[in-house]
Amino acid sequence: MTQPNQWYVPWDEELIRKYDINAPRYTSYPTAVQFTTLQPIEVEGHLSQQITNVSALSLYIHIPFCEHICFYCACNKIATKDRERPDKYLDMLEREMAIQAHNFGQRPITQLHLGGGTPTFLTIAQMTRLLDLISIYFEWDPEVHPGEFSIELDPRETSDDMLLLLRSRGFNRVSFGVQDFNHDTQVAINRVQSFELVEEKVNRARELGYTSINFDLICGLPKQTSASFIESWKKTLQLSPDRISLYNYAHLPERFKPQRRIDPKTVPIADEKLTILRDSIELLQKEGYIYIGMDHFAKPTDELSKALEAGTLQRNFQGYSTHAETDMLALGVSGISQINGAYLQNHHEVAPYEALIEKKQLAIKRGIFLNDDDKIRQWVIGQLACQGRLSLTELSEKFNINAVEYFDAEWQRMIELSKDDLVTINEDVVTVRPLGRLLLRPILLAFDAYFNEQTSQRFSKVL
Ligand code: SF4
Repeated sequence: MTQPNQWYVPWDEELIRKYDINAPRYTSYPTAVQFTTLQPIEVEGHLSQQITNVSALSLYIHIPFCEHICFYCACNKIATKDRERPDKYLDMLEREMAIQAHNFGQRPITQLHLGGGTPTFLTIAQMTRLLDLISIYFEWDPEVHPGEFSIELDPRETSDDMLLLLRSRGFNRVSFGVQDFNHDTQVAINRVQSFELVEEKVNRARELGYTSINFDLICGLPKQTSASFIESWKKTLQLSPDRISLYNYAHLPERFKPQRRIDPKTVPIADEKLTILRDSIELLQKEGYIYIGMDHFAKPTDELSKALEAGTLQRNFQGYSTHAETDMLALGVSGISQINGAYLQNHHEVAPYEALIEKKQLAIKRGIFLNDDDKIRQWVIGQLACQGRLSLTELSEKFNINAVEYFDAEWQRMIELSKDDLVTINEDVVTVRPLGRLLLRPILLAFDAYFNEQTSQRFSKVL
């Protein structure tokens, strides 16, 4: 057990209930709710400006296939047992890479993430092909341009050969979908994976030299109780992951079809869920993990904690990141790119995605080009979410505005939040307090120009 440190988040049930509202998680600003259909000509014009850019680039590739469907799933995936199915998808990815390499091929890749779906649904031959394609079309060479190269792993779908292949090609981070070790919960969500299996894969990853291991767990799953989840934490702690993402299950069967297979009577009620969350946060902090913010915990030795301390934390579609602010290029169905003041999202469905790529066209369908106000608010939200502070003087200088006048109403909101100790205000600097890191979304919300009663229904509860 470790002593509370400066990052220790206290639990204040009254305030937590007060601020447990529907709000975005701000992996982007504006959020995806604001995306509209884009015209190919404006997208192409925007991307062609990148041709002379040689700064570092982040690459995300979406692999949508899953053999088994988890009943809690809200991701974009394709259920299939056909292992040849990805071959055509890889053909399309190759064509998409060829198109995008024209504008981005010269930029060194310092961050790569394979997400899904289940990226390891690919066979060894298919994965080898994918990695070869990345090396061919992009400036990706981990020895020349070191960085963070990561993949989401389903322990049931991760062979030793796959771990070996990825490691030999420079991957250094893995994220295991654990969700919960409780067997009854695993049955209820259709994701049965034993502790021994996860342990074996984690040990193998460590032996191979992966430097950071992340676990995803989910709070609020069916048949989960505070007592059962504590047992899951004990098992988790035995495996000592460097980072933990603790997500909140939102039961929305009308929106996510697989969730219709979950009996709502088995889902913990709000009070029980809050207890599960409280016990989880307290336990993880006592065991030495630092609460980074919005679902993320990390060991003090992990790069995320160091970045929190150094004020260099970043945030993107994968959550918190240590990487310097880089553009992100996303390939594959539903991928969202963030390129020089624009968010650009590929088609969600495979058929239209493939149809456009086959015609050698980009598959970007929706997105938004940020206006000046969006850029200012995006920077403000990033400052508060990552650095935990906002200076109006800095803001004024950076954007050549009078920030005091510009954010007069928002500042009044900060003053209100300071009364509940979510933030402190010192002259023109607002600093997020430890409890404010737990209740970050209501703070960021104050600077969101789009959020209203109607859009609020699109977002999950804060906790
Ligand atoms: S949760 Fe992940 S592994 Fe499970 S069905 Fe959804 S995308 Fe596939």
